Amino acid sequence: MTTSTPHQRSQDLYARVKRFVLINMIVVPFIPLLLALIIGNHSFSRSIKDGTINSMKRIAADHRQMIESFLLERKNDLVMIVNTISFEEITQPGRLMSVFSNLQRTASAFADLGIFDENGVHVAYHGPFDLTGKNYHDAEWFQHTLENGVYISDVFLGVRNIPHFVIAVMKKEVGRKWVIRATVDSQRFNNLVRQIRIGKTGEAYLINRQGVLQTDRRSGGNLMETPAEKIPLPAPGREIDTFIHNSAGTDPLLKGIDTFMHNDAGADPFLYATCWLKDNSWILVIRQEKSDAFMALESTRLPILFICVIGGLCIVAAAFTLTGAIVRKMEQSDTEKALLNQQLIGASRLAELGEMAAGFAHEINNPLQIISSERSMIQVLLDEMVEAGQLTPGESLDQVNESVNQIITQLERCSRITASILKFGRQSESREEELDLAVLIPEITQMVQKKAEVNGISLLRDIPQVPLRVRADASRLQQVILNLLNNATDAIIEQQGSTGGFIRVSLLHNDNGSATIRVRDNGSGIKQEDMEKIFSPFFTTKPVGKGTGLGLSVCYGIVQQMGGQMEVESRVGKGTTFSITLPILKAGE
Ligand code: ADP
Repeated sequence: MTTSTPHQRSQDLYARVKRFVLINMIVVPFIPLLLALIIGNHSFSRSIKDGTINSMKRIAADHRQMIESFLLERKNDLVMIVNTISFEEITQPGRLMSVFSNLQRTASAFADLGIFDENGVHVAYHGPFDLTGKNYHDAEWFQHTLENGVYISDVFLGVRNIPHFVIAVMKKEVGRKWVIRATVDSQRFNNLVRQIRIGKTGEAYLINRQGVLQTDRRSGGNLMETPAEKIPLPAPGREIDTFIHNSAGTDPLLKGIDTFMHNDAGADPFLYATCWLKDNSWILVIRQEKSDAFMALESTRLPILFICVIGGLCIVAAAFTLTGAIVRKMEQSDTEKALLNQQLIGASRLAELGEMAAGFAHEINNPLQIISSERSMIQVLLDEMVEAGQLTPGESLDQVNESVNQIITQLERCSRITASILKFGRQSESREEELDLAVLIPEITQMVQKKAEVNGISLLRDIPQVPLRVRADASRLQQVILNLLNNATDAIIEQQGSTGGFIRVSLLHNDNGSATIRVRDNGSGIKQEDMEKIFSPFFTTKPVGKGTGLGLSVCYGIVQQMGGQMEVESRVGKGTTFSITLPILKAGE
């Protein structure tokens, strides 16, 4: 079995406390920080996603409206022509050309214009190709136009073998049907559809139901090609927002616009917005790479991460600093407690010693009384014997008388000693009385005279011969001055050894009605950085066992209690001066 020392035990305790405080100080603030970050990040990401998707939807809605208007206007152009010009008139040579020029003046959206009789024969044509006389009776667009009156085709190659799409309108006149057909300028239409710009990768294009491109695509894909990726068809009038439900779903303008994420083969995922156009036969696709669309989200992640890391580091640093400070404080207060404990043990031993000394003094007083009365008896007997002539005066009688006088002197000395021991034993309570400093201070210095001489220190007194009365507890004031004299002795021995030291004790009468007791020495002095601490309890520079660090703090308290002040001046290697200033009693007080 191993036994640990008290030092080890307290070190273990400090380590445990340190671990506990550290873990708590790190974990406890981390939980709210993480919660705030997770919740904040979640709502922030959600609001950015909602915002991005909404703006994508809005762009799709605006674009849809613009393309639909373009197609409607072009169709209305043709409807207006068939309603204002007859078949005869329009097939007149040169008439179609002037109609075409008029159309181009307003919109310049068409590439050519042609007139067909009800058998599908191209009876008049104005445009860059030679199509007059060709028969379109079996052409899909022609059949559709005859059936529905109006037809807007998908992009197709046709007779001219170039991708294009046409708008055709049928006119019924009395006894005949005829059709006007215009080819939409592919370049112009392409530009119209592609013109949007969203971020770096945003684009718009049209596909038909089969997924065939009806316009070029910026990210790759020419007219009439079929892109590799298959995106879901938008459901007319139904929101199939597969990516995220958003609040703009209720806006009527945004009705019919779907948003979703889709992975292009081998490429980054795209955010799509799609909707039907041209009576559900074309799909307008607006798309943007996910990383581009949610760039704001990505760019805010870095600062959030940075805040996280810095916040975490601050918490950890604060935890380490504070824990260190707490444990140091604990160690310090434990050390002070242990010291105080030692002091208490010492003090109680002193108190016991004081009591014992008082008891001895009391006990010794009785035999002293008896010796004193016996001496009086001897004196009376001697006097009677001299009177009766039994003893003749002479040298022997003188010697006996001298011995008796010596007994008196020594008895008086003994009673002075026992009286002061008894007085010391009763000094626990403060007993203020009127004292004359001019008398008290020489008495106190007298007590250390011998010790000073032994250490080669001259004890100089500068005490005026006039009374300086103060109200104070004599034994406490004595304790203060003795402590200063002892400290001065120690400092002198440290600096000077056993020769050349001096202590000068002065008493000054100040003009402001106070007296100053000054104790100056030429000892080692006090370092500047220690000056603030010397009145603090337990501050000592003396080796263990010699100094307790309590002397000056107790002196300071005593002087303050007496209504006085205690100050110090010192220069390292030169010496130190302590001054105690006390209020002096005025006449009549
Ligand atoms: P202790 O004497 O037990 O150390 P004190 O409270 O009386 O406790 O003194 C505290 C410290 O002040 C001393 O350890 C010493 O460093 C310094 N000090 C006190 N008096 C003097 C002096 N006259 N000269 C130099 N240093 C002194």
